[in-house]
Amino acid sequence: MARLIFLGPPGAGKGTQADTLAHLCNIPHISTGDILRGAVAQKTDLGMKAQSYMDQGELVPDQLILDLVRDRLDQPEVETGWILDGFPRNVNQAIFLDHLLQEIEQTCDRVVNLEVPDEVLVARLLSRGRRDDNEEVIRNRLQVYREQTAPLIDFYRDRQKLVSVNGNRSIEQVNAELQQITRGIKH
Ligand code: ADP
Repeated sequence: MARLIFLGPPGAGKGTQADTLAHLCNIPHISTGDILRGAVAQKTDLGMKAQSYMDQGELVPDQLILDLVRDRLDQPEVETGWILDGFPRNVNQAIFLDHLLQEIEQTCDRVVNLEVPDEVLVARLLSRGRRDDNEEVIRNRLQVYREQTAPLIDFYRDRQKLVSVNGNRSIEQVNAELQQITRGIKH
């Protein structure tokens, strides 16, 4: 059982690591980015509303994300734990999550902050080549991260939840450290 939030800039490896760890721990990996990309591909109402923000590297309006996260965390299969990846992404979303978790009587165990230098991030994202991975949009996503998401590092440090992990190592090395962190969680 583990309840984890993965924090970190775009390209830090959150998705890759969250996927592996979620399989190992047998808990769902909830990626708001993946959910939104699925909605865009299926041209749902949510997808239509989200697409232009995503293409520009801006955050999608909170209102669209909050309903989605509430629905997801309200499902029975997440009672054994979860990894949130890409959420919360600003202070308002973090406060919403605090309240939601209180309401459903859950607590987050750790917030993993994956640290990777900017120049490595840009190189990784350019080589990935997703639709929103061109240089201009990448620069904007990094700036949005610094302005809106990075303040969550202090937010969770103040709440004694933060664990920083050096993400500028091999996938296996990072994964080994994350497994160690997960094993250290006591319920
Ligand atoms: P990355 O980690 O590479 O930035 P994600 O897959 O997490 O990519 O997100 C891609 C895009 O989806 C973001 O640039 C943003 O537009 C949107 N998005 C994802 N999660 C959120 C969120 N919690 N709040 C607002 N927008 C989000």
